Amino acid sequence: MASGKIIIAIDGYSSTGKSSFAKIVAKGLGYIYADSGALYRAVTYFAYTNGFIDEKGEIDKENLAKVLPKVEITFRTNKKGDSVTCLNGSNIEKYIRTSTVSSRVSQIAEIPFVRDFVNVMLRRMGQDKGLVMDGRDIGTAVFPNAELKIFMTASDQVRAMRRFKELQEKGEKDTFESVLENLKQRDYIDSHREKDPLTRAKDAIELDNSSMSFADEVEWLNNILLPNFNLKVEYPVE
Ligand code: C5P
Repeated sequence: MASGKIIIAIDGYSSTGKSSFAKIVAKGLGYIYADSGALYRAVTYFAYTNGFIDEKGEIDKENLAKVLPKVEITFRTNKKGDSVTCLNGSNIEKYIRTSTVSSRVSQIAEIPFVRDFVNVMLRRMGQDKGLVMDGRDIGTAVFPNAELKIFMTASDQVRAMRRFKELQEKGEKDTFESVLENLKQRDYIDSHREKDPLTRAKDAIELDNSSMSFADEVEWLNNILLPNFNLKVEYPVE
């Protein structure tokens, strides 16, 4: 049985509940949680607000490549204990989940130099292990040696409804149909890009959470963690 801190890689299609689950797991193990999608969203927001994406959605890759190395994206913990994404020191968390960013993020994420830029930051976070990271290529490309890889799935309708409710709570006006369409579009681009496409790692364990509660998901995980790693996710945690 392995002992000590591990890296847990959680991948899957859009809105399969990866980040909610990853946050619970990290909290319950006392691990760091990292949302790799937030970094792609932050780059997209940066590109959008600095004129590197025009109205037609064309990306000025040449100039973006020149400035990106100077861009600083960091995660900070706010007063509530939540991780927030910062761009050059400013909190941009509320700007990176909008439909404008969601509609462009997959085009930005398929650019190889963007992926290289993000991967450097992601790998740095895993240096000391004790990390739960969610994304699309964590188990295949970012941490191919992660001790535990989970591939999350859920039905299209369930995924779109989750995302739709999240957006409604934030006061966004998107329709259910437009949310479903955006998910499908992103899934398509994410799984067909040349560099590090979204695919299930051969050694990943699949978790279909279409009709599971968080407590069910934690129980499912503990059945793997306890015998293999002597670890247990405490849930709920105060
Ligand atoms: O996880 P989230 O939906 O916020 O990710 C936003 C987008 O970032 C994804 O649709 C995908 O295009 C990109 N992404 C990626 N690789 C990752 C994480 C996210 O390409 N590891």
